[in-house]
Amino acid sequence: MARILIAGAGVGGLAVAHRLRRQLPAEHEIVVVDQSPVHIFWPSLLWLMTGTREERQVQRPLSALKERNITVVNAPITALDPAEKSIVAGDTRWTGDALVIALGAALEPKVVPGLADEAGNFYTVAGAQSVWELLHTIDQGRIVVLISRIPFKCPAAPYEAAMLIDGVLRKHRRRERVSVELFAAEPAPMGVAGQQVSQSVITALAERGIAYHPNHVVSRVDSGGHRLEFSDGAAVHYDLLAYVPPHQVPSVVAEGGLAPAGGWVEVNRETMETSFPNVFAIGDVTGIMLALGKPLPKAGVFAHRQGEVVADLIARRLTGIATSAIFDGMGECFIEMGRGIAGFARGNFYAEPTPTIHAYKPGRHWHAGKIAFERHWWSQWW
Ligand SMILES: Cc1cc2nc3c(=O)[nH]c(=O)nc-3n(C[C@H](O)[C@H](O)[C@H](O)COP(=O)(O)OP(=O)(O)OC[C@H]3O[C@@H](n4cnc5c(N)ncnc54)[C@H](O)[C@@H]3O)c2cc1C
Repeated sequence: MARILIAGAGVGGLAVAHRLRRQLPAEHEIVVVDQSPVHIFWPSLLWLMTGTREERQVQRPLSALKERNITVVNAPITALDPAEKSIVAGDTRWTGDALVIALGAALEPKVVPGLADEAGNFYTVAGAQSVWELLHTIDQGRIVVLISRIPFKCPAAPYEAAMLIDGVLRKHRRRERVSVELFAAEPAPMGVAGQQVSQSVITALAERGIAYHPNHVVSRVDSGGHRLEFSDGAAVHYDLLAYVPPHQVPSVVAEGGLAPAGGWVEVNRETMETSFPNVFAIGDVTGIMLALGKPLPKAGVFAHRQGEVVADLIARRLTGIATSAIFDGMGECFIEMGRGIAGFARGNFYAEPTPTIHAYKPGRHWHAGKIAFERHWWSQWW
């Protein structure tokens, strides 16, 4: 009997667990460890932030996995030993025949002085709710959407956030009195996806009257004075701040020797195996450099597909079932634009010398597609 340890039950970890359970005989143990008792469907936080979802709709209990013969350990992982394929969670050391690290990116608002004093971190459930509390009553002033540092997960999300906020204000006839601006610590939206995608987002922002300020790296936040200061000396006042916090590799991963200081876990980009045999890393915790000199974006679509590939590889090694599974760099994403409209982009991020991504014309059908995907996410596993 083998034991497969999966550290993290987010998008990638769940994909591994479910696919492995379908492929492996019941005597093989699948153990999923997460500090959170719930799985959150992160894309829905944009709808939580704009009042079209409630907290209970964006999450489900991980304990439900037990019904599928998956062992769930609800405890923080405090140590990782890739050479031993072991982790420490709570008071227990777990050792496996294979270890999958799917711990995502740690959100670290404290990296920017004063940022943690602001509640509007819409990359968390509480932060998304706090944005909605102010958004549904604000009737004058300036809303700032802030990308504080790169890299950050879901390159589209802050742009979607700004356009969804615009849509809410227009719907409630408050837009003339409330400006919406986006300050970004990056030169262009979704830059890895190429100029066509970037330009389509810039155009969509402009059509909605959302002022876009790229290349703005925030250096300090004065939450009492409602003021952002940037590294070039510029400053801006805000009445509502919705922000993407700095992301870092989880400290337990760095301390386990799996990532260099300030970096991410290096893997074989097709098999997702680390330099330790039978130790894999998937999703946001990894850093995969592309030929154009920028990393593969952090996105659920990649975590999901990488997870399925890793499950196939582990199952093959255990059972001898043939597989040609590799992660091929294909990905897609919906881009919410507010008022029931969304765009869509799809392509090959491993294409060389640059990714070949196509942005499709925005329409209501893409918005419906995003809602359908959310429904599918929950119905397949819960
Ligand atoms: C607002 C928003 C919108 C998004 N929209 C999209 C989208 O439309 N499309 C898309 O592709 N992606 C989207 N994403 C990005 C996507 O959610 C992530 O890229 C994806 O979740 C990464 O999966 P992962 O498994 O690597 O990490 P995660 O899903 O973040 O899972 C990591 C898990 O590890 C656990 N964990 C971390 N540290 C520890 C520890 N020490 N001990 C125990 N457990 C730990 C966490 O609790 C978590 O459950 C969005 C993200 C946000 C925030």
